[in-house]
Amino acid sequence: MKNKQFWADWLFPIISLVTFASLLATMLMTMDSIRVGSLLSYSAGLLAYTSMLTVTFIGSRPRFIEKHFGMPHMFEVHGVMSVMLTILVLIHVIIQWNGIQWVTDMSIVSQTGWVAAIALLVVMFTGIFSLSGMFVNTNPALRKFKEKQPRELNLWLHRLAIVSDIFVFFHLFNLPFLRDNMFFMVLLSVYTIYVLGYYAWWKIKVQMLPKYKLGKIYKGTPSLYVLEFEPTEGRTIPQYNPGEYYWIHFKDADGITKEGHPFSTSSSITDRFNNSIEFMIKEAGDWTKALENVKPGDTATLEGPYGDMFPPHIQELDESVPFTLLAGGIGLTPMLSIARHEHQIGSQREIHLVWGLSFKEDMFMLEELEEIKKANPNFHVHIIFSNEEVEGYDFGFITNEYLEQNGAGDYANGEFFVCGPEPMINAAKRILDNGNVTHAQRHIDDFGF
Ligand SMILES: Cc1cc2nc3c(=O)[nH]c(=O)nc-3n(C[C@H](O)[C@H](O)[C@H](O)COP(=O)(O)OP(=O)(O)OC[C@H]3O[C@@H](n4cnc5c(N)ncnc54)[C@H](O)[C@@H]3O)c2cc1C
Repeated sequence: MKNKQFWADWLFPIISLVTFASLLATMLMTMDSIRVGSLLSYSAGLLAYTSMLTVTFIGSRPRFIEKHFGMPHMFEVHGVMSVMLTILVLIHVIIQWNGIQWVTDMSIVSQTGWVAAIALLVVMFTGIFSLSGMFVNTNPALRKFKEKQPRELNLWLHRLAIVSDIFVFFHLFNLPFLRDNMFFMVLLSVYTIYVLGYYAWWKIKVQMLPKYKLGKIYKGTPSLYVLEFEPTEGRTIPQYNPGEYYWIHFKDADGITKEGHPFSTSSSITDRFNNSIEFMIKEAGDWTKALENVKPGDTATLEGPYGDMFPPHIQELDESVPFTLLAGGIGLTPMLSIARHEHQIGSQREIHLVWGLSFKEDMFMLEELEEIKKANPNFHVHIIFSNEEVEGYDFGFITNEYLEQNGAGDYANGEFFVCGPEPMINAAKRILDNGNVTHAQRHIDDFGF
């Protein structure tokens, strides 16, 4: 498992380094000598470019890698690598600096380089201050600033990364000593075409996904929508594992943008959901609030499934292995999907659903949870409120003591599933650390990347 963590952290930086090393080697192959300053500048520039290609590749959500490491972690690496590559670009620009010039006085190499650098600045700004919480969420003022940003506009601007990639390619192509180096140009073209081709293929694939019709939409609580989609044109529902998630892209609904947003399935493939797929969506911002405009009959595509919360090898575990499902607020959705799956297969497994909520009005689904309890007396629900005392329920936060008092703390033998907002995930990780729960026993879904 340590190995998995290593690869989750280092796979993409290693890809950048290997592609960089191959480009540098082919570049140096044809040179008799090079000044140290030039070597440093070219190395910084080339490593920045291979990192740009790698982060573009991550941005196209490659499922075959995501299922091993998880999207939130991949986007963390995406964020860190983007900062590193910006520093490399800065080093390259400082060393190559020719003073201030009019655009018309610049060489084509400088012009293409500047367009790429300016596009990259926009990409970095939108990434740091609008799309990712990673760098700004710990500072309340920056967080507020981020929340005020028009996310969807910034998402479009963030796509200037592709423009930046293309201009760097031409920046390099216009350097005669590189253009005449066949090995270098072949490698550079293969890397660039692979990444941009993969990105284009992914975009086309998303456009061509089959449409699903919204069968039902209703409010589960004052701020929560339940959406149930059905396949169209005689198709069947997609195959997915409990707790996996999809990007929902509305296609022809009035009053909501077509931009995709990620949501975990709350359904599972069961008798009840044998021809439909359900999502539970909490109002969080512009897009989720606009769900009030969406009507039954509107269509959407579902991009996915992504995630690895409840993979087949965990589904096949012996019933003697207890499950603890730790949910914070709307983090209930993948847990419900798991609980519905276990209910469908008639499992008598010891399952503890520990659900932290803020207010009484956030509580829902109690009838169905009761039904599951009736079928499996080893299924237990522990609801704890943090902002309001609610009669008949616990008050406070989920802690090690709380789990242990409720029989949900079998750290040595159990499997632990965690989902919720970032602070809840961090608290849950501390609880699991205190219980010495191994990484293999943890299945964490982060709603906040
Ligand atoms: C893997 C995953 C599964 C999720 N499952 C659920 C679920 O089952 N139910 C639920 O209510 N919410 C879920 N969310 C959260 C949901 O995606 C956001 O609340 C929603 O996209 C907010 O959009 P907005 O425009 O209404 O709010 P905004 O104000 O634009 O965003 C609020 C926050 O949501 C996140 N967010 C917004 N748009 C995106 C996006 N396109 N991609 C990734 N993150 C985004 C950002 O952290 C942002 O700060 C999930 C998130 C992830 C990453």
